[in-house]
Amino acid sequence: MGARLIDGKAFAADLRARVAVEVASFQKDSGVTPGLAVVLVGDDPASQVYVRNKEKAAEACGMVAQDHRLPADTSEMALLALVAQLNSDPAVHGILVQMPLPAQVVAHRVVEAIDPAKDVDGLHPVNAGRLALGRLQGPDGALVPCTPQGALILLRDQLDDLAGAAALVIGRSILVGLPMARLLIAENCTVTVAHSRTRDLPAVCRQADIVVAAAGRAELVGGSWIKAGATVIDVGINRVPTLPGSDKPYRLVGDVAFDEAVAVAGAITPVPGGVGPMTIACLLANTLTAACRQTGVEAPLWLS
Ligand code: NAD
Repeated sequence: MGARLIDGKAFAADLRARVAVEVASFQKDSGVTPGLAVVLVGDDPASQVYVRNKEKAAEACGMVAQDHRLPADTSEMALLALVAQLNSDPAVHGILVQMPLPAQVVAHRVVEAIDPAKDVDGLHPVNAGRLALGRLQGPDGALVPCTPQGALILLRDQLDDLAGAAALVIGRSILVGLPMARLLIAENCTVTVAHSRTRDLPAVCRQADIVVAAAGRAELVGGSWIKAGATVIDVGINRVPTLPGSDKPYRLVGDVAFDEAVAVAGAITPVPGGVGPMTIACLLANTLTAACRQTGVEAPLWLS
């Protein structure tokens, strides 16, 4: 029997619509319009597409998107000055600095300069620390990184109760793997974090009821690695060359060999159309959460 397909695109559309409703009611009650400042340094074409999509999505749900484009040779000091200006701008509730940054800028110094209350990517040590402490709700709750938050929303929808499930997270990055593992611990899963030095990853994977693949390795996880009926969330986005004769130079694949895994898993996200669209939807949710907290209004519970 084939796995259920988890339609992240449809889920993300629902979440964006829910954010739009909440933005309208927040605006009506407080008179405040949530503002998202997006900072892009340099002219990387992929990053330009990402930031434009984020800005368009913010505007579509009733927020104001502030666009800040800086040349590739911008100094760290100039970028820190812009972050300081955005920190003190009352119209800005969320700040997103698009990664990667050019070599002359130390990325973590920029992230650490962002006011944690406006850190809608959830990467500031204060937010990472709150997440590590399991402080997820309330005015002092972590702003949680968008991709793992989106993955968890999809998992929660698939599985009534995650408690006690054996969950494997493949990858331990600050952006995806580590926060994902922490969120799954908060769900009372028994969590294993695998990485490039893990021994016999296929055997580890065969034990897992939940697999979250975030290694950035095209089709790393084969069908024979998957336990029958497992729920598979594929975070990876990898470009692989197409066969000669194709009209496109590359295609996108995940970290899971989809055609093999779909025959074994209970449910699986496709790539594209799985976790990817949830990332932007969760960015919008985080921006509204940040705006509510800065205005002293109770924020909606996205993860409940
Ligand atoms: P990263 O390179 O920072 O981290 C990769 C992690 O995977 C590392 O911890 C590494 O140890 C581990 N790893 C690498 N090779 C491995 C192997 N062979 N076996 C086991 N573990 C291995 O990457 P990242 O930023 O965490 O992103 C991971 C993937 O997710 C990438 O494909 C990226 O494009 C994708 N991504 C998608 C979204 C989205 O919106 N869907 C967002 C962020 C990242």
